[in-house]
Amino acid sequence: METLTKLGARAPGPGPDAEITHLKPPVDPASLVHRQLLDGPFWQQIPAYREVDEATFMDWGWQARHSVTSHAKLVAAVGDLAPKAFLDDVADGFRRAPMAMRVSPYILALIDWNDPYADPLRRQFITVGSKLLPDHPKLTLDSLHEQADAPVPGLTHRYPDKALFLTLDTCPVYCRFCTRSYAVGLDTDAVDKVSLKATEERWTQAFKYISERPELEDIVISGGDSYQLKARQVTLIGERLLAMPNIRRIRFATKGPAVMPMKLLSDDEWLDALTAVVEKGRRLHKEVVIHTHFNHASEITAITKRALDKVFERGIIVRNQSVLIRGVNDTVASMQLLVKRLGHCQVHPYYVYLHDMVKGVEDLRTTVQTACDLERHVRGVTAGFHTPTFVCDAPGGGGKRVVHSFEHYDRDTGVAVYAAPSVKPGYFLYFDPIDTLAPEIQTRWKDPAEQQRMVEDAVAAARAAQARNAKASSI
Ligand code: SF4
Repeated sequence: METLTKLGARAPGPGPDAEITHLKPPVDPASLVHRQLLDGPFWQQIPAYREVDEATFMDWGWQARHSVTSHAKLVAAVGDLAPKAFLDDVADGFRRAPMAMRVSPYILALIDWNDPYADPLRRQFITVGSKLLPDHPKLTLDSLHEQADAPVPGLTHRYPDKALFLTLDTCPVYCRFCTRSYAVGLDTDAVDKVSLKATEERWTQAFKYISERPELEDIVISGGDSYQLKARQVTLIGERLLAMPNIRRIRFATKGPAVMPMKLLSDDEWLDALTAVVEKGRRLHKEVVIHTHFNHASEITAITKRALDKVFERGIIVRNQSVLIRGVNDTVASMQLLVKRLGHCQVHPYYVYLHDMVKGVEDLRTTVQTACDLERHVRGVTAGFHTPTFVCDAPGGGGKRVVHSFEHYDRDTGVAVYAAPSVKPGYFLYFDPIDTLAPEIQTRWKDPAEQQRMVEDAVAAARAAQARNAKASSI
């Protein structure tokens, strides 16, 4: 008995009814706002949907057929809910935008039409002419060089073991900031698109290439958007890839859960086809997951939660890749809320991307510094595996670099220099939006000779920093 006491046998503890001493003060219920999801017939605030009942609104086919694709349809849907001056501004933006407009009724109903200029959802999908800024002079239409790295049309092979398979070129919505505005959606006044139609002939070429590259293990099925694939196409693509011995992981990329969650509740054929591929993959010890794209907490409603619960019950992992967008999720509060609400719905907040350098959306880009600052504030609010990595998808095909891993960042000129030694040789440059820089620097960006000087100075500083690091490095 004496021995047991020495080994730490405990005296009887307090009973189950004993009072507990809390070390932390009670939380403010407002800090749990990520669990409060919009429910009820919120869509009936839109004049065109006033008589639309729940069964109709929850039908994904109705959502697709009633998506707003023109200025006239927008005016017809929102009526006088939006100020006339705003709608005129949209008409101007519509003419100048590189992306065609397509907004689902679900998203349209979540926009605050009392203040559409500031609304984070409106900013992502509906262009207003008065807010457009000139493009950065270093910007190109396909800034990530996806076409240059494509051995067959629509298949980008950049990382050694991973390929991006663009199966088609349509989406349930069109985002203003789309990296693939060179291909996705209809032609606009500003851009003639590269065609990436869903043809089995093109897909066969892609399958052949993937099967002939033993180093490829991981395929991202994107577009466009996997939501747009027919159920039989999901099965065909999934089964062809799972049958290849080299393929270990497949990701179906879709923005659908963020913009049309009801499809997961009402298109059983599509979700059953995806579930069957996931289950077959599991039997073969291969991972098949969904990668989605929420950018703001207000995209997540009670409908979203019900849809994602259904996906979760089927054992399908969902990861999220957000884009960091000015006026949408570039504050600590908005990013923390998004991350917490994604976690509440069992979606892993995987990446936050620095906004790509795409045409016609300078008003939406932010700075490298903003991304670094946000990362610092988001890390620690939840578990590490629910904490997104903030990355810069390096223009020119350098791939994703952790945002603060630049070799050099000149905060005055807004030039960040990244290196990607395991992807491609050379340097990859990201440029902060010019309107965020000091007036004298903005003037320098107007002069091509000065532009060249700023770039050369940044690259020289990066080279010097790398040389110093190489001296200190042990690898
Ligand atoms: S859903 Fe994705 S691919 Fe489609 S327009 Fe938006 S960002 Fe581009």
